[in-house]
Amino acid sequence: RRWGWSLAGELRQAAARDPGRVAVVDERGATMTYQELLERSERLARSLRSHLGVQAGDRVGVLCRNHHGLIEAIVAAMLLGADAVLVNTGLSAAQLGTVAEEQGLRVLVHDGEFTERVLGLPGEVHRVDERRHEELIAAAVPGEQLQPPERDGRTIVLTSGTTGAPKGARRPTPHGFGPLVSIIDRIPLHTRNTTMIAAPIFHTWGYAALQVSFALRATVVLHRRFDPAATLTALVAQRCDAMFAVPVMLQRLMEVEPPQPRPPLKVVAVSGSALPGNLAIAFMDRYGDVLYNLYGSTEVSWASIAGPRELRAAPTTAGRPPHGTRLAILDENGRPVRDGEVGRIFVGNEMLFEGYTSGAGRERRDGLLDTGDLGRLDADGLLFVDGRADDMIVSGGENVFPSEVEDLIARLPQVREVAVIGVPDPDYGQRLAAFLALRPGETLDPEAVREYVRRYLARFSVPRDVVFVKYLPRNATGKVLSRELRRYFD
Ligand code: ATP
Repeated sequence: RRWGWSLAGELRQAAARDPGRVAVVDERGATMTYQELLERSERLARSLRSHLGVQAGDRVGVLCRNHHGLIEAIVAAMLLGADAVLVNTGLSAAQLGTVAEEQGLRVLVHDGEFTERVLGLPGEVHRVDERRHEELIAAAVPGEQLQPPERDGRTIVLTSGTTGAPKGARRPTPHGFGPLVSIIDRIPLHTRNTTMIAAPIFHTWGYAALQVSFALRATVVLHRRFDPAATLTALVAQRCDAMFAVPVMLQRLMEVEPPQPRPPLKVVAVSGSALPGNLAIAFMDRYGDVLYNLYGSTEVSWASIAGPRELRAAPTTAGRPPHGTRLAILDENGRPVRDGEVGRIFVGNEMLFEGYTSGAGRERRDGLLDTGDLGRLDADGLLFVDGRADDMIVSGGENVFPSEVEDLIARLPQVREVAVIGVPDPDYGQRLAAFLALRPGETLDPEAVREYVRRYLARFSVPRDVVFVKYLPRNATGKVLSRELRRYFD
């Protein structure tokens, strides 16, 4: 078998080479070795086959927070040649019903806390909660061999549905070390790291972090829920040298007292949404120059990486494409724009997704995939992401990127977090509305916010509405749910 970028393959390799090494540590400090994790996954696979009839080509849904059971479910499906569908834990009962039907799930492995949400699923979907999961592992027929399938099952990542119904995106299984090299070439990760994966593994970024960690035979610390204080305690106690997170988690970590001594982190890698520049600097001032910002998506994996030096020089940059990745900024006719000009970001690498399960695709040009994002490259080749093309606000004929206004407002010391959206306006087509959550005990006058923006940006970038909220509605990966904010104006 050739080395393939598959979680089952990584686990098999790690278990063969380092069987006694701890693979996973949970929030209570309980550990499981690579050997144990593989054995449990294999037993689960045998039971899924013999008790629930799962076979190659089937789809097994996984609705789990970060813990070893999630890994076992994914690997078990793969070992049978079935596809694992990673389901976003933020989906509603109705969305889960649609997903189960559209993906044709035979089994849904889920955490106990989601039992009520999956009650309404069609009867033919076998629901496996944590108790049943353990029963199935215990009930595996001894001695029964697992025939290796013609090919390992795939992983299908469901998008969170921030821009519509959740879509299933097939992850690729490229051969060779390209994806791993593209990471370790730029980020100082090494074999036998201890990594904390705080980003949800059902999301493409957390999943990629798990694959990289297993490829390096790392010990992986997993907490079901992100709690900033517990995370800091575990980073110190487990002596984590790397952490994978989404940007909003850094924000939460900055809101609690730093531990003494500081965790021995060498790498903190974030992706999944924009990293505010002031947060990048504040985080590095406190925890050292260890921060890496990766720009990417479910469809293209990681497409650019900014390291500490680049972030110090240009805090809002998404960095440069890694080894093996091509990146181009194209105008609407598909021609490259000049340095500094905004255009659509196109990406080519061996990690591009293999299409949506619905059959729909994304535009490609010259082998490069449309990311749906707008951005620009500076004269040094640093990438700046302005945001989703769909999020661009056109007010009075002028284009405004929410990210630009957000970054500015976030620099006000009273502001904890901010989101800017476009809302329909009878005169201007759209106008800007800013939602601000302030730090405890702080106050701010809407006119003072407008006045401040007016000082730095053009007239059309000034939010007409300034709304104060306790917190911003976010999905499980920390992306602000602008759809919910828009409801404020219904
Ligand atoms: P949906 O497509 O339904 O929103 P999702 O939230 O799961 O689903 P992802 O594929 O994770 O989708 O989102 C990728 C998008 O997030 C990118 O296209 C980009 O807009 C934004 N993004 C990710 N990382 C960064 C980054 N480092 N800087 C700026 N934007 C980023």
